Amino acid sequence: MNILILGSGGREHTIAWKIAQSAKCKHLFVAPGNSGTSEIATNVPLSVTDFEAIKDVVLKNDIKMVIVGPEDPLVLGVHDFFLADAQLKNVAVIGPQKAAAELEGSKEFAKKFLFRHNIPTAAYQSFDATTVEAGCDFLETLKPPYVLKADGLAAGKGVLILKDLEEAKTELKAMLVDAKFGTASTKVVIEEFLDGIELSCFVLTDGKNYKILPTAKDYKRIGEGDTGLNTGGMGAISPVPFADNEFMSKIKERVVIPTINGLQKDNLPYKGFVFIGLIKVGNDPFVIEYNVRLGDPETEVVLPRLKNDLVEVFQAVASQTLNDITIDIDDRAATTVMLVSGGYPEAYEKGKEITGLENIEGSLVFHAGANLKEGKVVTSGGRVMAVTSFGKTYQEAIKKSYQNIDKLHFDKMNYRKDIGFDL
Ligand code: ATP
Repeated sequence: MNILILGSGGREHTIAWKIAQSAKCKHLFVAPGNSGTSEIATNVPLSVTDFEAIKDVVLKNDIKMVIVGPEDPLVLGVHDFFLADAQLKNVAVIGPQKAAAELEGSKEFAKKFLFRHNIPTAAYQSFDATTVEAGCDFLETLKPPYVLKADGLAAGKGVLILKDLEEAKTELKAMLVDAKFGTASTKVVIEEFLDGIELSCFVLTDGKNYKILPTAKDYKRIGEGDTGLNTGGMGAISPVPFADNEFMSKIKERVVIPTINGLQKDNLPYKGFVFIGLIKVGNDPFVIEYNVRLGDPETEVVLPRLKNDLVEVFQAVASQTLNDITIDIDDRAATTVMLVSGGYPEAYEKGKEITGLENIEGSLVFHAGANLKEGKVVTSGGRVMAVTSFGKTYQEAIKKSYQNIDKLHFDKMNYRKDIGFDL
C-alpha cells in the first residue's frame, strides 16, 4: 500500500522510520518532510493545511493511508475533507475528525469535556471580552500562581503562569481585549494551579477500542534544571519511572476509559492518537491537556519502543478492529536529546551544515529542522535533530545519546545536558 505522512518534524521522521520497516508499505511519501525523511521516503513539497494539494498527491500516487502528524490540519478538518470527497472517502486517515480535534483546538471545549465525564482536572472558569471584570474577580478567589490559557491554538505559547495577581489581571486584559494571541485569545480559561510532576500518556483509539502506549516525560525549558524559556521540547524519556503499575491503573480507570467512553457518548469520531498531558499531584493523576496527535519529542521515544508493525496497527484503527491487535512494547528505556540552533527559542540562524552523522553508532538520529541543500544536511529550524538511544535503564540510554552527540556538529549547536535529571 502507498502511504502519506503529513508534517516535517522529528515526530514525522520517526513515524516514517517506523512505517518504512513494514512490508505492507509499498511506497512512502512525506509532505513536506525533511532531510531525514528524504532518505527513506519521497518528500512532497506542500503545505499541510492545503487540502486540495494533499488530494492531488493522494490521487496521483494511489495513496491508501494518510497519517496526520501535526494538529493544524486536524483542527481544520482534514479527516472530514477526506470523508466528504467521493474519491478520497476510502483512504484511511489516522487522526480524529474536526469535532473531536476541538479537544486540542479549544481549551474551553476540553475543560467542558473533562468535567462532563468526571475526569480529574483543575477547577476553571472561562471568560471573553465582555466578562473581563468577572475574570478579574475570579482571579481574586484563587491562590497564586495564576494559570491563564488562551482558548485556541497558540503554538505552545498561549499559557501564562503568573505569581502576581495584578500582573495576572493585566495579562488577562491583554489577552481578551488587546488580542495578545490573536483570535486564539478571544476566550481565556483561568484555572487552578496544580503542583506536581508532569508526564504524558499516549493512547491509540479506533473510536471504540483503545490501546495504551508507553508513557513519556518531556523537558520543555531551554535551560538545564528546567529553567529559561519554554521550547517545543528539548528531550524526552520513556517509560516514566514514577508511573508504576498502581499509578498507571489510576490513569487507565480515571482518565483513559472515561475519555474513550466520553468520545463515544459525545459522538466525537476519533481514529488516532490521544496525547494526554497529566500532572501527578500527590499520588493522583490530573489532566492538564489533550493533544489530538503524538507529541514531539515524545514520539522519538514512544514509537521506537513499539515492536508492532505500525501499518498493521493503523489498518486496525481504520477498520475499528484494534482489539484484535496485541501491542508489544520493548522493555528497554528510551531517551532522546534534541539538538537546537543557538539562540532558539528566540532568534536563531539557519543553513548551518550538520556534520558527523555518518559516525553515529548505536543511536537513532531523527531529523527535525534539517534539510538538504546542495547535497549537504543543513539546519532549517530551531529544533534540528533528536538523538534517541535505548538502554536497560534510562541512565544507560541517555549516556549513549550524549556519547553520540559528541560526534555531531553544527555552528552554535545547543542541547540540554541534563535530560532525566529530576527522576
Ligand atoms: P504545549 O503546547 O506546550 O503542550 P499548551 O499551550 O497546549 O502547551 P498546556 O499544556 O495546557 O498548554 O499548558 C502548558 C504548560 O503549562 C503545561 O505543560 C504545564 O507545565 C503548565 N500548566 C498548565 N496548566 C497548569 C495547571 N493547571 N497547573 C500547573 N501547571 C499548569
